[in-house]
Amino acid sequence: MLEIKGLTATVDGKEILKGIDLVVPQGEVHAIMGPNGSGKSTLSYVLSGREGYEVTGGSATYDGQDLLALAPEERAAAGLFLAFQYPVELPGVGNANFMRTALNAVRRARGEPELDAVQFLKRARAELRRLSMADDMLKRNVNVGFSGGEKKRNEVLQMAILRPKLAILDETDSGLDIDALKIVAEGVNALRGPDFTAVVITHYQRLLDHIVPDRVHVLADGRIIRSGGPELAHALEAGGYASMIAEAA
Ligand code: ADP
Ligand code: MG
Ligand code: MG
Repeated sequence: MLEIKGLTATVDGKEILKGIDLVVPQGEVHAIMGPNGSGKSTLSYVLSGREGYEVTGGSATYDGQDLLALAPEERAAAGLFLAFQYPVELPGVGNANFMRTALNAVRRARGEPELDAVQFLKRARAELRRLSMADDMLKRNVNVGFSGGEKKRNEVLQMAILRPKLAILDETDSGLDIDALKIVAEGVNALRGPDFTAVVITHYQRLLDHIVPDRVHVLADGRIIRSGGPELAHALEAGGYASMIAEAA
């Protein structure tokens, strides 16, 4: 499970995370919702070990391992996957090679044999079929010229191939259309099971119509101010963040 205790972090000397407490038991999918600027993306960056995000207190462990002490690539090897709001484009880098390199880095770190191109393609095609995606996704350069929906599909494919134990998806205010939301939701739902834990970060309730979370947490001004079941997302949709923040204060 993922266990975050009293996590504080600064960006450019400004405190953004002001004491996050969160437990996500193994096999569960939790949603984090919150208004713009509440620190949702900062939390995902801190968990991924991105440069410029300084942890000033607290802890984050996964399966008892201190996540914050690991280098970003070690976090991936430990089974952590992070999907960001703005996927990078890599001209000249083939998608299949890119994903095989990522997968083999994780396999090496785990002491598992690497996959050659043929073995990888077999596995990748199986995932493509499972997700009802076209094969040509693998032949293109990473995200180059991809539509928003294709980038989302690619991210979901990458996640399906890597089979993370813990996925953190930051789907905040990226203006995803309903089709893209469904792609993300189907990708997460296809992986749901006892060995897959996920934190889905979203500004809007509508993603949670498709991914029904086990728990919903509301983040405001760097702290989790409320936690509840899926109904909490509906309450937010009806009442908005402002009244919940006022109530918590
Ligand atoms: P959310 O994802 O919930 O919209 P963010 O984590 O992106 O919120 O941002 C939280 C707060 O941190 C905002 O007030 C934002 O202005 C600030 N912030 C984020 N990144 C930086 C940065 N690189 N430098 C200074 N302030 C930042
Ligand atoms: Mg934002
Ligand atoms: Mg954000």
